[in-house]
Amino acid sequence: MSTSSPTIPPDVAAHVLCHYGRGGYPAGDWAEDLISLISRADDSNRDRFAAGFPDYVAAITAIKYDPNGVAHLLDLAAGRCTRCKTTDGPNTAAGLCEACDQPMPLDGVA
Ligand SMILES: [Zn+2]
Repeated sequence: MSTSSPTIPPDVAAHVLCHYGRGGYPAGDWAEDLISLISRADDSNRDRFAAGFPDYVAAITAIKYDPNGVAHLLDLAAGRCTRCKTTDGPNTAAGLCEACDQPMPLDGVA
């Protein structure tokens, strides 16, 4: 199983949330079938899907296995910073606002 954490675009987060009845909005027929297949895949087949659809696999893995997965996907779908929850945007591909994406220097001097 891959240990990298690919970025999850807002629309992918919304599609996966909707598939699991947790908000978001529906995907088209093709993507809905893809979500259904990935969600039912065993580990080896999920890895094969991850090669082609890393964002969908990451979102489905989050909602199925991460206790904070739904909250994380709701933040991504709404464009909220996944760390400080502001909606000021723009957010990085990892879902962080610009302030959160710039780590505080260790000596505390900005
Ligand atoms: Zn932030």
